[in-house]
Amino acid sequence: MVNGKVIGGRQGIGGEWGHNFLDESGGLCYCGKVGCVETIISGPSLERYYKSISGEALKLKEITMRYREGNDNFAIETMERLFHYFGKAISVVINIIDPDAIVIGGCVGKY
Ligand SMILES: [Zn+2]
Repeated sequence: MVNGKVIGGRQGIGGEWGHNFLDESGGLCYCGKVGCVETIISGPSLERYYKSISGEALKLKEITMRYREGNDNFAIETMERLFHYFGKAISVVINIIDPDAIVIGGCVGKY
């Protein structure tokens, strides 16, 4: 939001940042590019990351619960990775549009 209004953009995709480049470590995205925001901080990508380091397949809700409990080092690593990359990704948007507020949607924002 800027000056109290949601920025929708000319084609209605304003604020869609999921396919901005973030880091090569995210790998190939379903859009065809490599390292999109989606490949690193989306719910499915966080679940994949957790499985890659722990060998256990969990839903994000369980990962965040384990993170809050503080006794699962894989959950802690997964969530700290999210915080690090979320900060990197959102700072680019903030520096470009200098918003009043940022509205976060999607499944990651629920937890
Ligand atoms: Zn993409």
